[in-house]
Amino acid sequence: MTSTNVYLPQPAKVLENLRETAENFRLLLDISLQNEPGQFVQVSKLGIGEAPISIASWNRDYLMLHIREVGTVTRSLGRSKPGDTVFIRGPYGRGYPMVESEGCNLIIVGGGCGVASVKGIFDYVEKNRDRYGAVYAFVGYRNSKEVIFEDFVEAWKQSMSVFVSLDTLKEGTCYDASEGFVTDLVKITELPKGDTIAMLCGPPIMMKLSGQTLLDKGMREDQVYVSEERLMYCATGTCCHCMIGSKFTCRDGPVFRWDELREHTT
Ligand SMILES: Cc1cc2nc3c(=O)[nH]c(=O)nc-3n(C[C@H](O)[C@H](O)[C@H](O)COP(=O)(O)OP(=O)(O)OC[C@H]3O[C@@H](n4cnc5c(N)ncnc54)[C@H](O)[C@@H]3O)c2cc1C
Repeated sequence: MTSTNVYLPQPAKVLENLRETAENFRLLLDISLQNEPGQFVQVSKLGIGEAPISIASWNRDYLMLHIREVGTVTRSLGRSKPGDTVFIRGPYGRGYPMVESEGCNLIIVGGGCGVASVKGIFDYVEKNRDRYGAVYAFVGYRNSKEVIFEDFVEAWKQSMSVFVSLDTLKEGTCYDASEGFVTDLVKITELPKGDTIAMLCGPPIMMKLSGQTLLDKGMREDQVYVSEERLMYCATGTCCHCMIGSKFTCRDGPVFRWDELREHTT
């Protein structure tokens, strides 16, 4: 594990740049951080800029990031080749409550790019399976061309119940997926009985609907956690761009308990 000053960007070599969809790619970097699932790093390329990206791995001897190309930094990172150097600072923020949830069932819901944030939870559960009861993982994508982390699904199935949805199956898929929104899948699935913690990451509407469904099914607001995304620069609670009410997404989040954001919930 690299132990470092989180304020100081450190160089990391690109080990692999894997194209997952037309706009999304996965970077493996030769750096190992002590992070919590749900935390993020600031990734930069010299002379280009910096962007916050969720850590899609936990306790590995590499760092995995999954990135969608939307602008200057992410497109430049998308052109990275093995051997190139990028810079990493962090990890930052508050992750998912993995330790506090020990002994509970887990419901994990990821949508689209948001699966990158919950992928760290899957790594954690795989390595600490005996600490949790039933683990239900729901992942949803628009269609078969937008599926990410497909190569991990069989491994996830070894330690949890995995439910996959595609908004539309029209494109055809070898995937064992149901057609519809992932929020519908959460609605129709009988959830585990007993103490349960839910962890969600995806588009705001997905988190809102799946969170509300879980509350309607009897979960309390303090059992549901969401990961928020806001435009940010410093990641250290200084620039104030990422504030949600009085809270900093970078420092108090990005993972928040449902009731912490009730009046701001998207
Ligand atoms: C905590 C956190 C975790 C994130 N994790 C991931 C991840 O795992 N994978 C990933 O692909 N992206 C992630 N993002 C989003 C990512 O940081 C932005 O897409 C990136 O900063 C864009 O940088 P750019 O220079 O490529 O684009 P820019 O040229 O800076 O921006 C392109 C467009 O996107 C808008 N934009 C940029 N950042 C955001 C934002 N945070 N929210 C809404 N709109 C924004 C800009 O206003 C602009 O319109 C995360 C963001 C946060 C805050």
